Amino acid sequence: MFMSASALAFSDGETLDVELPAGSATGDVSGATVRVRLSTRARRLTLRVGFDGPELVVPPRTTRMGALGFLNARLDWLAGAIEQVARRREKRTPVPALAVHLAAQPWVSAGGARLELDVGATAGRPFLVHIEGVPPVVLRHRAGDHAEADLKQLLREFAARTLPKRTRELAAVAGVSVGKVGVRDQRHRWGSCSHTSDIQLNWRLVLLPPELHDHVIFHELAHRLHMNHSRSFWNTLAGWDAGCARHRRQLRDEWNFLMSVAR
Ligand SMILES: [Zn+2]
Repeated sequence: MFMSASALAFSDGETLDVELPAGSATGDVSGATVRVRLSTRARRLTLRVGFDGPELVVPPRTTRMGALGFLNARLDWLAGAIEQVARRREKRTPVPALAVHLAAQPWVSAGGARLELDVGATAGRPFLVHIEGVPPVVLRHRAGDHAEADLKQLLREFAARTLPKRTRELAAVAGVSVGKVGVRDQRHRWGSCSHTSDIQLNWRLVLLPPELHDHVIFHELAHRLHMNHSRSFWNTLAGWDAGCARHRRQLRDEWNFLMSVAR
């Protein structure tokens, strides 16, 4: 049987977007991009994950179908390896300061909108003022060494007040039911949805622009109908979020920074 070269071959440096298993630590929302490296010296297909991301090493005369089958059979392993590398990277990377981030980006997302922030120090106890429809959102932290911890605590509190409500609003739009909605300090995922219909969301969602904030919530809501990342899952999600593909790419760009902020 003769097949054209393009049906068989990869080009060097080509990238493959893959879905990671829904239950895996890194699997939700982000997926992964695997870089293809053609190697004339390689004897076998190899999948590895370095600090610059996953790489699939492809020896000569490998069929595209064979390589994709190899890759697809290792998605659980890949999700675990990506998480391990992320943990190693965390230990090396200085944590970006929340105060610096908020000075450059003085807003938070809630209820589908971008809300102006008023961040400052207080001589007393830290506090948050958020009155719906009345901008800005006020954050007051203690000065000096306490500032970072206070800002994180205040943003987590803001997220705990606003994310469950937004999730229920979007669930009503989508026409699905949800159980409990919790807000967590997750290091390796934006959110998760359990088989018992509970949804956990990362407090850092309030630092994403409103369209990405809602995209993550819709993603978890789509798991209410499909507990996987099948084609049906993505069709459902695209029906609720018309910018789905673009939002996924933008989320990946935000990932490294926001997942390392305020650890
Ligand atoms: Zn998912």
